[in-house]
Amino acid sequence: MKRDQILQRLKTDKPFDMIVIGGGATGCGIALDAASRGLDVALVEKNDLAEGTSGRSTKLLHGGVRYLEMAVKHLDRGQYHLVRDALKERAILLRLAPHLSHRLPLVTPLYKWIQIPYIFSGLKLYDILAGSKGIGTSRLLGRKKALDRFPMLHADGLKAGVLYYDGQFNDARMAVSIALTAAQHGAVVANHVGVTELIKEDGKIMGVLVEDLVKDVSWPVFSRCVVNATGPFADKLRLMDDSASRPMLKVSEGIHLVLDKRFAPPDTGLLIPKTEDGRVLFVLPWEGYALVGTTDEPAQISEHPCPPKDDISYLLRHLNRYFDLKVSETDIKATWSGLRPLVFDPKASDTARLTRDHIIEVSPSGLITIAGGKWTTYRRMAADVVNRAVSAFNLKSPRKCRTHGIPLAGAASWDPEGGRKLADSHGLDSRVAEHLNNAYGDRAHLLAQIIQDGHGKLLAEGHPYVEAEVIYAARHEFAVRAIDVLARRTALALLDTEAAKRAVPRVVELMADELKWDPVRRRTEETLAEERLSTAI
Ligand code: FAD
Repeated sequence: MKRDQILQRLKTDKPFDMIVIGGGATGCGIALDAASRGLDVALVEKNDLAEGTSGRSTKLLHGGVRYLEMAVKHLDRGQYHLVRDALKERAILLRLAPHLSHRLPLVTPLYKWIQIPYIFSGLKLYDILAGSKGIGTSRLLGRKKALDRFPMLHADGLKAGVLYYDGQFNDARMAVSIALTAAQHGAVVANHVGVTELIKEDGKIMGVLVEDLVKDVSWPVFSRCVVNATGPFADKLRLMDDSASRPMLKVSEGIHLVLDKRFAPPDTGLLIPKTEDGRVLFVLPWEGYALVGTTDEPAQISEHPCPPKDDISYLLRHLNRYFDLKVSETDIKATWSGLRPLVFDPKASDTARLTRDHIIEVSPSGLITIAGGKWTTYRRMAADVVNRAVSAFNLKSPRKCRTHGIPLAGAASWDPEGGRKLADSHGLDSRVAEHLNNAYGDRAHLLAQIIQDGHGKLLAEGHPYVEAEVIYAARHEFAVRAIDVLARRTALALLDTEAAKRAVPRVVELMADELKWDPVRRRTEETLAEERLSTAI
């Protein structure tokens, strides 16, 4: 559906059952859950889908080995349940979006004998918690096998390794895919449309004032209930609702850096079990590159946080401690930063205690706020919110939550061998075909057709992204700005900043043709994309 048509649907006088504010994992998940229950739902996102935290994660579908360690150390049942539930969700998401996710083996290197029983039993417990939803059994690796798996590791003093499994996924494309699936179920999904005010009558929220940030026009949208799924911005919306509301969030920043493929084998990740500040770090193969992250530092809220230099040094320092290969700043291809929306635990006596769980709050005026949780648990969080909304607002929902059985867009008839078949049937380069099959699932053939119409050129040398993806994103995947394509429909901007900069003019040209941009809009888009790529994505 074209943007004008989407916005037209948002201009109706008839109230929606639900308006969701925020197009990250949580908001998209809620829109899909509500729409698939038969509710009339609209989602508005002021930037692009997954432009917030959801497009800047470590891209792991996981229970969180570190949270398990904390659960055991502090005998914390809550944490333990969180890990167990997330492991169940991990298995569900691997099934619902197999084209965008896969099982990833990870090695934990052990340099002290004493670490072996501790880490091995911890990861065994992780397997036990996953139970029948497990995706592979952890096992001890001898020194040589650990090095075979992850050859970049510092060999001196290495005693052994533990191999375990988690899920890896394409976060930004997963969010888009959830949004597309929500739209298939009737949801109105509008990105680059922000909420600037809550509309109230007799102290109760009746709707929101929205602004199309591309055309600078505002209008009211009415709804029986309004959900605040704005992640790190949740307190801002709560203040809009009630200027006296106390904050429920503490925001922490996590950065990632991307190195070329010399720094990670193609099929195995690395878990550094203990950093100098007692955390864990990952080095993961990702789209032909090595993804390193992350950090955890208190931060101010910002739409496009810029990775602090100290945090980059921190990651490089740890890599150099664990790698034989020297890593320096000149090896960095891209860096980006995301904000964790951590919520204060309302059950804890210590009011500063944070929880990794999600919290749902319904304000006296009726604003439903959902905050916390993690990507892996978005589907469960969405179900909890919609259940709460249905009962609090007496919404007529003909069905119960059924998202555990709804494959995400692109998944229904995805074929793991589809890349090879696409290459054979359409004469595509095998790397491009493989990429299209994994990124677009059973829709890859539509891109192959656009390629055959003359848009098979690579967007950037050495990357499998092709011009057809720009056209497809503008036509079918809510891409409105050039940077939407560079940073979220494809991952070029997150992998290789310089290559993304070089691709800007061509991406703008293709979008301009497709979306009929005038010269002013072309220039605006080029400037916007260049600005983002030169500061922070
Ligand atoms: P967001 O993705 O931030 O979405 C909120 C959206 O609301 C934003 O897009 C914003 O633009 C929009 N918005 C705000 N105000 C308005 C308004 N007024 N009008 C309209 N829209 C508005 N979890 C995992 O499971 N696995 C991981 O590997 C993992 N790694 C992580 C690494 C880092 C560094 C961080 C920070 C988090 C990680 N997480 C991970 C956690 C996970 O990414 C987050 O929990 C999740 O993405 C939060 O999604 P969200 O939709 O709540 O927030």
